[in-house]
Amino acid sequence: MAIYYQCKHCQSRLGMLEKKDVTEQELGFDRLTQEERQDIIFNDLYGDTYVHITCESCQETLDRYPERNAWSYLIQ
Ligand SMILES: [Zn+2]
Repeated sequence: MAIYYQCKHCQSRLGMLEKKDVTEQELGFDRLTQEERQDIIFNDLYGDTYVHITCESCQETLDRYPERNAWSYLIQ
């Protein structure tokens, strides 16, 4: 069983850990609220875990165009 880190914007796979090598405490999962966990951590049928995060290039885009969503709203 494994933990996959995946970008929630472009779906690229950012990393993988074997569950037996790490604990939830080491990953910082225990510091998340219940809502945050539901938001970013997903378990599939096979016992693998997916952690949805924002990759570097998507973060750059978001930082560079923070108003983009507002713009498209105004144009409409
Ligand atoms: Zn991305």
